Amino acid sequence: MPKHVIVIGSGLAGMSAAAYLSKQNHQVTVVEKNSTYGGRLQQFSSNGFTFDMGPSWYWMPDLFDSFFSDFNYKTENFYTLKRLDPGYRIYYGDHTHLDISENLNKLKNDLENIEHGSSAALEYYIKDAQEKYTLATLKFMHKASLSPLEYLHTDLLTKLGQLNLFKPISKHIREYFKNEKIIHMLEFPSLLLGGKPRDTPALYSLMNYADIVLGTWYPKGGIRSVADGIYNLACDLGVKFNFNSPVEEILVEYGRSSGVKINGEQFLADIVVANADYHHVDQNLLQNGYSNYSHEYWEKRIMSPSSLMFYIGLNKSINDLPHHSLFFDSSFAEHTENIYDEPKWPKKPLFYVSCTSKSDPNTAPKDGDAMFILIPVATGLEDNEATREKYFNHVIDRIEKMVKQSFKNNIVFKKSYAHREFLADYNAYKGNAYGLANTLFQTAFFRPKIKNRYLKNLYYTGQLTVPGPGMPPALVSGKIVANQIKEDLNE
Ligand SMILES: Cc1cc2nc3c(=O)[nH]c(=O)nc-3n(C[C@H](O)[C@H](O)[C@H](O)COP(=O)(O)OP(=O)(O)OC[C@H]3O[C@@H](n4cnc5c(N)ncnc54)[C@H](O)[C@@H]3O)c2cc1C
Repeated sequence: MPKHVIVIGSGLAGMSAAAYLSKQNHQVTVVEKNSTYGGRLQQFSSNGFTFDMGPSWYWMPDLFDSFFSDFNYKTENFYTLKRLDPGYRIYYGDHTHLDISENLNKLKNDLENIEHGSSAALEYYIKDAQEKYTLATLKFMHKASLSPLEYLHTDLLTKLGQLNLFKPISKHIREYFKNEKIIHMLEFPSLLLGGKPRDTPALYSLMNYADIVLGTWYPKGGIRSVADGIYNLACDLGVKFNFNSPVEEILVEYGRSSGVKINGEQFLADIVVANADYHHVDQNLLQNGYSNYSHEYWEKRIMSPSSLMFYIGLNKSINDLPHHSLFFDSSFAEHTENIYDEPKWPKKPLFYVSCTSKSDPNTAPKDGDAMFILIPVATGLEDNEATREKYFNHVIDRIEKMVKQSFKNNIVFKKSYAHREFLADYNAYKGNAYGLANTLFQTAFFRPKIKNRYLKNLYYTGQLTVPGPGMPPALVSGKIVANQIKEDLNE
């Protein structure tokens, strides 16, 4: 029998859950605190420049395709993708750089020039990573992970042994390569996932397959087009959206959630799915006694980094700068230490630059560039204007030196974003950007669960539960929760 479902939050996971639940014929309303959909996939335009505010890397196109195909659509029905070549560039401390070419043979040649034998090693490494990718995307990723028993079937267990999934990725990479430049190139995706390579299981070398073989893509109009596409799909399926609707409380009656309270008014539902930051839902929206986890539990979680970001408009175009660049001209070890071991503002951070105007001229006025700079930093740090300004000057100096062009005096637009905006905009625990770090003990059934243990009709979806952070996992997370609801209703 169709139910009325309220989804709290219109992030990708919330909109994905809403779409799948609507397909199951439920009546679905998404209530969102902000004035628009998309969660962290916001975009703004100012002075002729357009900036995506959150995600900038479109990886794993197959998972987006598979999401749209569940509704008998193709991704291109919603937005147009272009593969970037190079996918990205890495700038190293010795003033050299490496382009991650779309052409695997070119990349292998470039690596061979850095380390003898690495071309062949890359082939073996990628073959192993591909097996992990297939295993994860076809088997692991879609599991509700309510119990370890879900993982106990023989083909999975055999693969677990063969693929050394639990070894630290830092060790796994070093079994194939010795040169630090190549090692850092392969460790980068674990940083993107929000983990220290030493604590990230080798399972996540699947991201190297995604990066090197499946490629880095860009949706025309920016990453916001992804949110637009999923919103349009959900609306077509009959999902209703109420914006400017911050949920203050999840209502409870007779041991079930009976709906939500927004601006003092009650909205009733048969089922509630929470996509808002898990910690916020668990600790702030539920009355005492109904939280899945304690304050102490959350304090002990290893959060993925927050980010200090700058959106910069230039009245000059920088020569020979690709769409994405990683600035690895400082110590990897020191930077990750400052995020995870001794959380503090880093002395000389790693950072990345996304210059969308290089592939999408509409994002900047003619002869200008739209630049987005992201510095991953620990969550919970004190964040003030003076600190932001110090890092702004620091990274601009480093970029100028590395690209051998000056542009500081050509900055005609500048805006920053960090911890306090993550908190204000998304109720993000400690100002996190991408949820929990992907350590072994925060993977699969070790992650916060998709079901509330006391209220049988309250579910959670999003980057803090399974499968994890990132846009493709957020879409899968919505599917997992919708499938679980279907299963529970059929019991
Ligand atoms: C800076 C940054 C860079 C990133 N880079 C990449 C990348 O390059 N590639 C990639 O794949 N992923 C990237 N990610 C990760 C990716 O964006 C997220 O994992 C994903 O978008 C999370 O979606 P979600 O639905 O779980 O959560 P969210 O997007 O946070 O959605 C939750 C929603 O709940 C709403 N909400 C919160 N509290 C309430 C309340 N009380 N009532 C009502 N609504 C509420 C919020 O406003 C929000 O809209 C990045 C993230 C950030 C922040």
